[in-house]
Amino acid sequence: MPELPEVETIRRDLLPHVVGRAITGVRIAPNAGRVINGVDPDDFAALLIGRRIDGIARRGKYLLFRLSGKGAAAYLAVHLRMTGSLLLRQPADPPDRYLRAVISLDDGTELRYADLRKLGRLWVVDSPEQAVAALGPEPLDAAFTAAALRQALAHRRAPIKAVLMDQRALAGIGNIYADEALFAARVHPRRLANTLTPAEVKRLHGAIRRVLSDAIDNRGSSFRDYVDGAGREGTHQLRVKVFRRTGQPCYVCGAEIARIKVGGRSTHFCPRCQPAILT
Ligand SMILES: [Zn+2]
Repeated sequence: MPELPEVETIRRDLLPHVVGRAITGVRIAPNAGRVINGVDPDDFAALLIGRRIDGIARRGKYLLFRLSGKGAAAYLAVHLRMTGSLLLRQPADPPDRYLRAVISLDDGTELRYADLRKLGRLWVVDSPEQAVAALGPEPLDAAFTAAALRQALAHRRAPIKAVLMDQRALAGIGNIYADEALFAARVHPRRLANTLTPAEVKRLHGAIRRVLSDAIDNRGSSFRDYVDGAGREGTHQLRVKVFRRTGQPCYVCGAEIARIKVGGRSTHFCPRCQPAILT
């Protein structure tokens, strides 16, 4: 599933090509009504056609296309979920597999939405809050301090891994970067969030920001379906320290990376670098 670094990479890829462009056409594939939340495809198209894309913001794993024209501002919100991708193509480019929606722009460019499992969503809202109000702090914002992380973890008697992945606690982190951040911070994934010491919270805060920034620098992680705005894979999957490295030696201490389930999700960690402290 695309997480913050992957969605941010797509945002940066699309930005120079779509900002300032007007939307001239919208096509929804047959049987793809789910990806536009069951809205009538003609109604969905009417909300977009004639508007101009003024910018793209990202909040957590959501992309928000800011639209002008036709009266009040609106936003096209996109969430890729498991297997969604947003691709910048020309009409003559070969068809993409699992194509669900095509947004045509006034220079001929197509913004294509492909999604094997059709779990992703595209919808039009009046304000970003309608899409992202429930999200926790943005981990790469200057306002996200160690104190803000401590606040997000306080009173949470749940495994730290599960809390890091809870979008209401912190926006944008999924399975890959939760495992990587906890390894970098030397915190066991099953530790209860509200029992982390101030020193551990501080380490985790730095680790989260470093891990996410490094992954953006490497254009995201392509373990399975993720591709960037041009359909290319990222390279951060080659740099991960624990994620899906079960049985391989820890780069720090040589112990075998272990896999356990936390909150129903496969979790990878180093039993020596991230000792369990029973609480
Ligand atoms: Zn280790």
